[in-house]
Amino acid sequence: MYPTVGQRQSLAGTFGCARVVYNDALTMRKAAWKTDRSRIPTGVLAKSVITDAKKTDARSWLGSVSVDALQSSIRDLDTAYRNFFDSLSGKRAGRPVSLPRFKSRKDNRQSLRFSRNGFRIRGNGKLNLARIGDVRVKWSRALPADPSSVTIVLDPSGRYFASFVVDIEPDHLAELDTEVGIDLGLTTYAVMSDGTVIDNPRFLRKAEKKLKAAQRALSRKAKGSRNRAKARRKVARAHARVADTRLDWLHKQTTGLIRENQAIYLEDLNVRGLARTRLAKSVHDAGWSTFRRLLTEKAARYGRHVGIIGRYEPTSQVCSTCEVLDGPKPLSIRTWTCGACGTSHDRDLNAARNILAAGRADRLNACGGPVGPGVAIPRRARPVETGTHRNAGRTGRKPRVAGAAGIPVLQRGEDVTRR
Ligand SMILES: [Zn+2]
Repeated sequence: MYPTVGQRQSLAGTFGCARVVYNDALTMRKAAWKTDRSRIPTGVLAKSVITDAKKTDARSWLGSVSVDALQSSIRDLDTAYRNFFDSLSGKRAGRPVSLPRFKSRKDNRQSLRFSRNGFRIRGNGKLNLARIGDVRVKWSRALPADPSSVTIVLDPSGRYFASFVVDIEPDHLAELDTEVGIDLGLTTYAVMSDGTVIDNPRFLRKAEKKLKAAQRALSRKAKGSRNRAKARRKVARAHARVADTRLDWLHKQTTGLIRENQAIYLEDLNVRGLARTRLAKSVHDAGWSTFRRLLTEKAARYGRHVGIIGRYEPTSQVCSTCEVLDGPKPLSIRTWTCGACGTSHDRDLNAARNILAAGRADRLNACGGPVGPGVAIPRRARPVETGTHRNAGRTGRKPRVAGAAGIPVLQRGEDVTRR
């Protein structure tokens, strides 16, 4: 978005008011929880921190901005709480969500939202925002449907973005029979089970010189000066450029993979753990989490399958030809020869093939189909074929994964001993 100077001022005012309303509502909810563990309904909150607050001297300026943006702010707080409670109860997957935090004037990313009542798209392509006016927009793409809300973001490098929530129908592509296993790494970005290699673009490493110069310039400026603010924006812009280039590249790679394969299998990497080691910078630069997220999102949209195989699957220790466990190998070993069948392996390609095999086996298991020969690699839990499980015939249920003699064994992804 390219707001005028006047519109920037109105936006700054609205960011501020939305933030104050959010913080006031958060204070009230925290206090209520402390006194009697109660939850104030959204309507009551809104009346108190918007309608009633406007009538006081301390908050009279809330009347100068769009009510819709203020109400959206309270709804966002509600969502933040819901995410927190769902995360606590286990209803929400993923890493734990913390309690909502207070917003600050100094946060380097400012945002606000308008519901359907607070914005309109003009025939000339401008975006009309309540109490702000018609803002010039450079559209990155046409909206596929009527949006239900818009979020306005001011990023640390001083750019304004409008991001719309739109409901879309899945757009399934014609089915293929190609499947691929991917081994992600740092020396090469990805090695596919069919032998294709994607080089690591190392966007951050390449821009490091420029970033360092900008950072040095910033450190020389006097605190609180205008020049310092300018230099800070310059650093932020340099970082934004790296992030934008990386995201663009990731979009292209993942779109290509989704187009060409019906199923894609990846290893579940411990990205947060690796990011604490001395590889941290390179790991962040690789953007594996974004790679995986984009693949998963696009798979859902285009009717493809993305399978994540367990973190402790010994994909680099097993021979993909004869399935014999060859033992652990240090990272420095790039090629090795299988002691059992004599095949010589490229470390990453062998891993990618094992990932494909493990992913296939997982998928067939999940579909209830038989596990074909030659696809399994040694693992803790081997599937039992229909009819051999104690309950299979009697109850008519699908056989469940079990160890020898029906003794329950750990399933994929729930390895307790290593956690
Ligand atoms: Zn072998």
